[in-house]
Amino acid sequence: MGRRHVLIGGGPAAVSAAEAIRGVDHDAEIVLVVADPNGYYSRPGLAYYLAAELPEKRLFPVTPEDFARLRVSLIKDEVTAIDRQGRRVTLASGGALTYDRLLIATGSQAVPARMPGADLDGVVKLDDLEDARDILRRCGRAKRAVVVGGGITALEIAEGLLARHVHVDYLMRQDRYWRNVLSESESRLVEESLGRAGVRIHHFTELARIDGRSGSVAAVETGDGKTIPCDLVAVAIGVRPRIELAVEAGLACERGICVDGYLRSSDEHVFAAGDVAETVDQATGRRTMEVLWNPAVAKGRVAGLNMAAEPSRTYEKDVPLNITRLAGHKTTIIGTVGNGEDTDLENLSRGDSQTWSELGPAALVEARTRDARVRLELGERTILGAVVMGGQALSVPLQDLVGAPADVSAIVASLRERESAAADIVAGFWREWTAGRG
Ligand SMILES: Cc1cc2nc3c(=O)[nH]c(=O)nc-3n(C[C@H](O)[C@H](O)[C@H](O)COP(=O)(O)OP(=O)(O)OC[C@H]3O[C@@H](n4cnc5c(N)ncnc54)[C@H](O)[C@@H]3O)c2cc1C
Repeated sequence: MGRRHVLIGGGPAAVSAAEAIRGVDHDAEIVLVVADPNGYYSRPGLAYYLAAELPEKRLFPVTPEDFARLRVSLIKDEVTAIDRQGRRVTLASGGALTYDRLLIATGSQAVPARMPGADLDGVVKLDDLEDARDILRRCGRAKRAVVVGGGITALEIAEGLLARHVHVDYLMRQDRYWRNVLSESESRLVEESLGRAGVRIHHFTELARIDGRSGSVAAVETGDGKTIPCDLVAVAIGVRPRIELAVEAGLACERGICVDGYLRSSDEHVFAAGDVAETVDQATGRRTMEVLWNPAVAKGRVAGLNMAAEPSRTYEKDVPLNITRLAGHKTTIIGTVGNGEDTDLENLSRGDSQTWSELGPAALVEARTRDARVRLELGERTILGAVVMGGQALSVPLQDLVGAPADVSAIVASLRERESAAADIVAGFWREWTAGRG
């Protein structure tokens, strides 16, 4: 019998760790413990499910047969404690599992609403499939909702509610949508589209309390004294990594579980991956958090390989990338694009990377094409980050150029001087650069 690997969490990090282990160790025993009764599914897909653009069954990328082929034992249960001395985890159902190697991939969860009235019936969040089903059930009766939060999840909930014919009042603490990642014109574009769809946006507005009637939501009161009647309040004010198990087990944790380049925690038998892992960026030496699907898969794979054998693979953080849709605008966000103000990092947003907000000295170029707007954050010789909104023709070229990173010094001056032609200049440069690489 090979090593016994216990993987806590049924998200992309744990599943890709299971695949990686099985890929190199035929004899390993792999046990996946997941608290979510719905198992493994696409969380980013929940937005499309809410908006009636994706049927529920399309959320599931892996079938039970796939798990069987991988020879993974799937246990639907919650791990309640880790005994590092005895190399054992305790399950909520009362059982226990011993391990040779343990992976903690417990993900992150919404920061709970804490204002008076937060426990009323009708206060919702969007962490998982049960939450999405709950929102949908309520949409049948709800006429008005208040949505709170400045990132992707709040917007996704607002769009989902609109698609279900619920009127939305959208409260933002700041002067514009997703301020620490989007430029002013990008935020405004999103807000204009929301406005046209009927969303009423309230800037500089905090949720002070939620008022109820017979135990259910009836209205909200804002910090500046407004009362907004509503039947639903959706709160998406950030996420927190689920580190409680690790903290109780005495593992080193800061915002997430601190891991080394091999994704090993402060205990050599325990690894962490996905949203919950606080990794060291090999390029900058800084500890970094990411709440993104693809990095979760990549971390899970590296952790799995290092669990299966003597650790030798290091996690190299890719340029962060999110391809999403913001109020109907297809959007690609690549690399370092934020304004450096870091305002939302107290709590991360979903689909967020700390890198996006850590902008060093850069020059901004904003260009429009027939169907897109393109923002480039230029360093001296490279493109540090980019945002493509609308037509996505430049999405792949910019992913390539930022990711490499390509030396674009030959076009930096013309990009600055001929901002309006920036999209063509980048496309032309990318074609030559790609051809030059064979
Ligand atoms: C609504 C929404 C929209 C998103 N949009 C985007 C997007 O546009 N782009 C993007 O890149 N990312 C997006 N994300 C984020 C992305 O889904 C996460 O980064 C990714 O799922 C993280 O994977 P993970 O494996 O670390 O954790 P998760 O996918 O969160 O999985 C963690 C699992 O661990 C389980 N678990 C937790 N504690 C225990 C325990 N004690 N015992 C057993 N099991 C436990 C949970 O039940 C869960 O199944 C979005 C997420 C949500 C919810």
